[in-house]
Amino acid sequence: MNRYSIHGIFLGTGTSQGVPVIGCECAVCHSSDSRDKRLRTAFFLDVDGVHLVIDAGCDFRQQMLTNNITSLDALLITHEHKDHLAGLDDIRPFNFMRHEAMPIFAEQRVVDAIKREYSYVFAEHPYPGSPMMNVQTITEEPFEYEGITIQPLRVLHLNLPIFGYRIGQFAYITDASSIPPETMALLEGVECLVINSLRFEPHYSHFCVSQVLEIIQTLQPKQAYLTHCSHSMGFYAETSKILPPNVFLAYDGLKIDL
Ligand SMILES: [Zn+2]
Ligand SMILES: [Zn+2]
Ligand SMILES: [Zn+2]
Repeated sequence: MNRYSIHGIFLGTGTSQGVPVIGCECAVCHSSDSRDKRLRTAFFLDVDGVHLVIDAGCDFRQQMLTNNITSLDALLITHEHKDHLAGLDDIRPFNFMRHEAMPIFAEQRVVDAIKREYSYVFAEHPYPGSPMMNVQTITEEPFEYEGITIQPLRVLHLNLPIFGYRIGQFAYITDASSIPPETMALLEGVECLVINSLRFEPHYSHFCVSQVLEIIQTLQPKQAYLTHCSHSMGFYAETSKILPPNVFLAYDGLKIDL
């Protein structure tokens, strides 16, 4: 497995409704700690100078502005749920800056969803100023982009097959509720693992804390970060203290260097 110089930023670490949840009276949703405010899950990667973002949910525009991301080479999409896809129209400033379509990597079913949900982009004569998407279908095979090898990681989101991604010593998995043995084999030797953890109680379509800790125990990464969290993960200041020493609760804006 290649090693790269990797800088990452957690753009969003919240589950589909974000935290706080509209109208929720719970203490976490009313926390004054900025680490308890979670936009929809997305991640920025600088891999040897190539800028990638994993997923473009409802908060994409805000995430680009807040983290001062002014150059973006490509998007990797995990799956078609709106909290991972609803912000795609906001790639337009990058189109205008670069005068070219944004490469977007996704598997066939997700490509079909993008073409359906953003049909105006793919019209024969798109309305002037529409986003420009260079949608590229990927499979479970590793692919190259700008000299970087990207290994899609098949995981299950209830029974929906979706992708995580491994790039060198780093792996990113969100919205999973199970990981097949073949994918566990592809994760061997990973040094930094980002993985979804919704809450403490089990959930039908997302890992909970105990399930994730078991996976981390098996894979033994140097560092693991929990993301796609709901308000039920509790306060950052409290939950982060009860995790094993190599496991960190992610928060929006957290940076990692590998
Ligand atoms: Zn999600
Ligand atoms: Zn709440
Ligand atoms: Zn989902």
